[in-house]
Amino acid sequence: MPSSHAWLDDVRASPCAEQLEAGFRSLRFNPLLEREYREHMLGNTYSFKRIALYAGIALWLVFAAFDFILVQSHVIWWVFAVRMAVLLVLLVFVGLFIQRRHLHLLQPLTLVSILALGGGASVVVGIAHITDPGYPYEGLLLVCMAAYFLVGLRLNEALACSLAILLVYVCMELLVGVPLARLASNTLFLLIGNLMGAIGCYLLEYKSREHFLISRLMRVLADHDSLTGLHNRRSFNRQFERLWRQAQREGHTLALLLCDIDHFKAYNDRYGHQAGDQVLERIGGLLLDAARRPLDMAVRLGGEEFALLLYDVDQTQAQQRAEALRESLEGLAIEHQGSASADRVTMSIGVACLQPDESGTLAQLYEGADRALYKAKAAGRNRVVG
Ligand code: GH3
Ligand code: MG
Ligand code: MG
Repeated sequence: MPSSHAWLDDVRASPCAEQLEAGFRSLRFNPLLEREYREHMLGNTYSFKRIALYAGIALWLVFAAFDFILVQSHVIWWVFAVRMAVLLVLLVFVGLFIQRRHLHLLQPLTLVSILALGGGASVVVGIAHITDPGYPYEGLLLVCMAAYFLVGLRLNEALACSLAILLVYVCMELLVGVPLARLASNTLFLLIGNLMGAIGCYLLEYKSREHFLISRLMRVLADHDSLTGLHNRRSFNRQFERLWRQAQREGHTLALLLCDIDHFKAYNDRYGHQAGDQVLERIGGLLLDAARRPLDMAVRLGGEEFALLLYDVDQTQAQQRAEALRESLEGLAIEHQGSASADRVTMSIGVACLQPDESGTLAQLYEGADRALYKAKAAGRNRVVG
């Protein structure tokens, strides 16, 4: 593991932390993260792909104008025809870009544009060399640099494009009959330029991938409780509102279980704060097990208070789930001699269930569960009240 990531020792296991620790020198994540990264990059590079496209068209037109100064023979019209054909490809791309309807085609279209620009430029150079051997070929390097740095391609895509462009260039020069020594020196120059571009592109992509993983990890850290790994209150509030709206749309019920450990202060006093933390961790595990469906959510609200948010569950089912959770803690048989209500660590659970509509609000669901929890405590603890 690189020493700059030593801080990962303090972070809970997560796909992003594991990937950072395992490294990604070959510029590839595990399949799931790789897909997420590519989707993220597609959205992220949209604006500079657009700028690069417009800049590319402008430069292409400038070079087309220069051709009329540089090429003094009849082949100028062939050169002009190639310039216009490439321009047409780029304008089709602009049309699709403006519609914003074909985002899934963004990456293939970028590749096609770069290949059209580079291939077109190679053909232009080849044609021009028929009559004007001094026509500059170095412009090809500009297209390769755009592939490496400007249009949001990954290294292997940029490298493949650049090598294809180089191949077209070499073929054209061989066809035209450029002296071999000259062709070799030009090709060497282009290859060295490409090597520098590829190294820069590798470093950029590596940093971009590292940034992706670290920012994901930061989000996980900001939304989760570090002791139990459960969602924290901040994340709960956000998800609660989101699920509320979803349940409203889909006509499903939402159930909230508020859980509070019984006599936990006494536990800390008797067994120490560290032992208390271990209990909280184990209870966190129980809540995670109880929230296995995708839209369920296990939360540490703070201190020794937890919540379980269950989607599409009615009052009876919610109470059954709460009872199972209470029993699972009892089943752990964690000794608690300081408890006035049992010989082991127990919890009280308040349950409320609502179908989100005009008559019920999110606050009502929370207040209902809170009231039920209060009743469970008042009735002697270690019980479920709904
Ligand atoms: P009740 O049955 O009425 O809920 O009694 P209680 O003692 O559990 O409730 P109270 O609110 O009086 O005390 C909560 C205790 O939880 C106080 C505090 O020592 C403990 N606590 C809160 N956060 C943590 C934590 O992160 N770690 C540990 N070990 N204890 C914590
Ligand atoms: Mg409490
Ligand atoms: Mg308590």
